[in-house]
Amino acid sequence: MKVSNENHQNPLGDFISSLRKKALRKKRELTNEQLEKPVSFWTKTDRLIDEIGKEFTIILRTKGCSWALGNYGGCSMCGYIQDANIKEVPSQYLIKQFDYALERKQNEIKDPQNNYILKIFNSGSFFDDSELDITVRMHIYRKIAEIKNIKEFVIESRVEYLTADQLSILKNNLKNKYIEIGIGLETTNDYIRNNYINKGLMYEKFLKAVDLCREYDIGVKAYLLFKPPFLNEQGAIDDCIDSITSLINLKVNSISINPLNIQKGSLAEYLWYQNRYRPPWFYSLFKCLKKAIKQEDLTNIRIVSDPSGAGTKRGIHNCLKCDDKMIQLLKDFVLNQDIHKLRDYKEVDCDCKIKYDMQRNYH
Ligand code: SF4
Ligand SMILES: [Zn+2]
Repeated sequence: MKVSNENHQNPLGDFISSLRKKALRKKRELTNEQLEKPVSFWTKTDRLIDEIGKEFTIILRTKGCSWALGNYGGCSMCGYIQDANIKEVPSQYLIKQFDYALERKQNEIKDPQNNYILKIFNSGSFFDDSELDITVRMHIYRKIAEIKNIKEFVIESRVEYLTADQLSILKNNLKNKYIEIGIGLETTNDYIRNNYINKGLMYEKFLKAVDLCREYDIGVKAYLLFKPPFLNEQGAIDDCIDSITSLINLKVNSISINPLNIQKGSLAEYLWYQNRYRPPWFYSLFKCLKKAIKQEDLTNIRIVSDPSGAGTKRGIHNCLKCDDKMIQLLKDFVLNQDIHKLRDYKEVDCDCKIKYDMQRNYH
């Protein structure tokens, strides 16, 4: 198993690993029938590079992320391994999963009214052979190369699986599409990333991966985690402003900001149950975005955020009275790439702002 051990000295790794093992013991074995279908798939409105279009997302069910299955237990906010099979999933099943989703959506996708961004996620690394091998990758490339309306193709990978060979095969097979690789950087701060998030990744390695992608004319989407465990609201704002600013200067192609949501079996869930962690407030996220982004930045970079569990107690939330308005403001900002859309959040004027102001430096 090829996993980075950048943070082998992080004592949190042992604790996360034991939490993970405990959660996995409760997991039921999946049937062959379940393995023939993806975890989920959907289409919905999304921001493409130059226009509003639609996303087609497929979440494949693989063995699971090697980092989460390894000795260090994976990242402190991640519970995706709960959806994985833990044992290797044979290629023919993964091909069936992909075909299952594509067959059910292809008529919609071929409708010339919309352009599409296809996102294939496997809650791990697309280029990790223990999750999916070259047979599966080639099958996917061939199928989507034929579909004209798919203009953009996005996958995710840890940097240790990005090789010149993999990128050149990808690029050669999908010459006419804009390709982007999502990398879970989470923050540009090495200390926070490796000690609080248990990511096992140094910024230096990320920079090398960006260079490699550029050589093959492949875009990079950096994921940032908003409010990692052990940061309070103000700490989260400061950390994310720093990260966004550095990534804008680095000229990555997209930034996806993910406010932490509480996932099963994760350290974040453990802390949350003990009242030692609260998912971020919208107030903090908007304050951070408004401070970090200038409208002219958005002509060169796409900044997106589609928080899981928004408006619920496990996801980013303010209060029941104002969550829907906040979710809408965030959507408007992302779809239009217009930072002015967030201008109005102060006018929402909800009572919960007082509670937020009192908590900001403590939780
Ligand atoms: S966040 Fe990504 S790298 Fe970290 S454990 Fe989850 S799937 Fe693996
Ligand atoms: Zn409110």
